[in-house]
Amino acid sequence: PRDLFMPERANSAGVDLDDRDVLAEVMGEVRGDISHPFALSLSKGQTEPQAKSLHPVQGEASTSSARTDLDIGNIAQSALNRAHAAFPAWAATPLDARAACLDRLADLMEARRADLMAIACQEAFKTIPDALAEVREAVDFCRYYAAQARTGLAPVTLPGPTGERNVLRMEGRGVWLCIAPWNFPLAIFIGQVAAALVAGNAVVAKPAPQTPRIAAAAVALAHEAGVPQDALILATGGADMGKALTADPRIAGVAFTGSVAAAKAIARALLEGPEQRPIVPLIAETGGINCMIVDSTALPEQVVRDIVISGFQSAGQRCSALRLLLVQEEVLDRTLHMLKGAMDALVIGDPTDSRTDIGPVIDKAAYDRLMAHRKAHQAQIVHSVAVPKKGLFVPPTLIRLDDPAQLDREIFGPIVHVATWRAGTLDTVIAAINAKGFGLTMGLHSRIARTAATVEGLAAVGNLYVNRSMIGAVVGSQPFGGEGLSGTGPKAGGPHYLHRFCAERVTSTDT
Ligand code: GLU
Repeated sequence: PRDLFMPERANSAGVDLDDRDVLAEVMGEVRGDISHPFALSLSKGQTEPQAKSLHPVQGEASTSSARTDLDIGNIAQSALNRAHAAFPAWAATPLDARAACLDRLADLMEARRADLMAIACQEAFKTIPDALAEVREAVDFCRYYAAQARTGLAPVTLPGPTGERNVLRMEGRGVWLCIAPWNFPLAIFIGQVAAALVAGNAVVAKPAPQTPRIAAAAVALAHEAGVPQDALILATGGADMGKALTADPRIAGVAFTGSVAAAKAIARALLEGPEQRPIVPLIAETGGINCMIVDSTALPEQVVRDIVISGFQSAGQRCSALRLLLVQEEVLDRTLHMLKGAMDALVIGDPTDSRTDIGPVIDKAAYDRLMAHRKAHQAQIVHSVAVPKKGLFVPPTLIRLDDPAQLDREIFGPIVHVATWRAGTLDTVIAAINAKGFGLTMGLHSRIARTAATVEGLAAVGNLYVNRSMIGAVVGSQPFGGEGLSGTGPKAGGPHYLHRFCAERVTSTDT
């Protein structure tokens, strides 16, 4: 099973994840950094950092239960005041110097890889390969956006009549608010922040309440890399903090990854307030009811491997993960038979154990939601894997649906729903998927080139994966993000991402 869980190769130099010896060495380093026994059960209810030093905005300890609305409002205000004051100097810092900060941050994260991985394991219950992939993706984001900025954000002279000079400049817009999820608490957190910063914005960054420590570590490294203290400010907290920050008319843009409901709440909040409040961009990245279509020509062994990776790696806690498997009816029995065998081989337990494929889910609330979903579909469970009794382990589960329309929301965990389709109905199948309104990832397994072309032409998704797994988008190779209920674009790790963070300004001069 270990083989199934090697993350896709990322772009950054460093560890080769396919090299077992190197991986074993990294695991040794990380274990050395985990200073207290891994808490598999309910220290997990915590939503706030415990260490006093982790409250950089006020420089004092504070927990969410101890914070009043007034406290939160004050912290938000103070963060925004400072970022606002820091913006002009940072915006005036040469593009190359801003990009150099990202490159240095990438180097620092590589140098501190073991520490960052240890925090990811402790705080987000990442397995070692997932924690390693997390750091590598964060490094990739920094290096990629630094390179993109140097070429893509430099001023351009545009053609015009003789005697006129037209110059297009891409400049920072002001203070960006970056709101990151817990499932990629370093990679997505730092990806948003790096993009906003290199585009010339000051940033207030709000990590998910479950994962403030890795965010605090990343911010400290960014400062060490040369980002001025107040150009990047960490504001920890939950929805209350998000609300206090988005209510402020000085916010020049929001980069958000998380739930659809939260994205909509942010979109609404950004329109509220004084009439003079500017209209600002929201880059929202949410979830999906991601489907994989399997036809009778697909290679069974490969299909099963890719289902297991897509549905269960990271305990299914990826917005790209497989939620609904659509198998051509002729091959359902064979596929299920092999899939059950592969699921039985999964090792579920302490994520810092080298043998582990799947760790616990993020917190008790997620655990309860997922277990309730299983219970509601008890009669349709066709397979489920035994898990340790103690801890927040959700059994990897297959739920058989008679009608795929029954799945109408994202189930964010290691649960794959299975339905069938009949040969000759592919157009209808895709139309039904599109009708769900999401549009993030889709997988297709088929050896017929025409089928792939049909799906590509019909599927309204941001990322289509053909004859491979449907997770683990690589920065710069597989720009990631969806449409419809899945998000606004532009795609993270793609060539159009940075521009959205900028104000585009043109000066036309009569020479
Ligand atoms: N980029 C990740 C992937 O391709 C998913 C990001 C997310 O879950 O938000 O698997």
